[in-house]
Amino acid sequence: MANPTRPLTPPRLAFFALAVPWFALWLLWRGLRSIRRVVRAGLGVRAALADDVVCAAGHRSSALGRWQCRCGFEYAGRAFSPCPSCGEEAGWIRCDQCGLGVRNPENAP
Ligand SMILES: [Zn+2]
Ligand SMILES: [Zn+2]
Repeated sequence: MANPTRPLTPPRLAFFALAVPWFALWLLWRGLRSIRRVVRAGLGVRAALADDVVCAAGHRSSALGRWQCRCGFEYAGRAFSPCPSCGEEAGWIRCDQCGLGVRNPENAP
């Protein structure tokens, strides 16, 4: 005789036993990813608003100054703020003291 309520047969139980942990992992992974994105965005905003940057050799250079965008537009302000003409952000700037490049923290991997 057929049971219309379809009880949890062993194959269905096995499916849930496998699917639920995967779903939980997927949710966790997505949650971590969005947290990381928020943290990175927060750090990026802070870096874009910082008045100075530090190169790999530890020199502190001012991020405030006169900058030329690759579109040719020259502007005064923060190094990693968007160009007023084309909206591009600098990918990196050069250290005042040693010439090493300092990457825009927002573009860091
Ligand atoms: Zn530009
Ligand atoms: Zn330096």
